[in-house]
Amino acid sequence: MDPSELNIKKLDKILNDLAEEGKYVEIRICPRCKSPNVTWTPFQLDVIGHCSQVAKYECKNCGWVGKLEILMTNKPIGEKEEEILEDIHKMFEEDMLKEKKSKNK
Ligand SMILES: [Zn+2]
Repeated sequence: MDPSELNIKKLDKILNDLAEEGKYVEIRICPRCKSPNVTWTPFQLDVIGHCSQVAKYECKNCGWVGKLEILMTNKPIGEKEEEILEDIHKMFEEDMLKEKKSKNK
């Protein structure tokens, strides 16, 4: 099985267990491997040693670095949130398509 699917399944179980206890949380996950092992860095040094004010996320699991933030949550969501999630899913699909295209060049 794809390791990212395993991560999602594990997280899903944890979130479900917490929801049953009435605890609702949000976990930041890596868009590549879906590991929750993502850290946030408020700034980084660029190649010439300047401090740029670009926040970024870094996955300690697969080394992914980026600005996308994905949260996994067990909070009950309403219709409005579902619409927002729809939009997010679409954004991701577009991104993935773009990535595929640039790789095919
Ligand atoms: Zn990762």
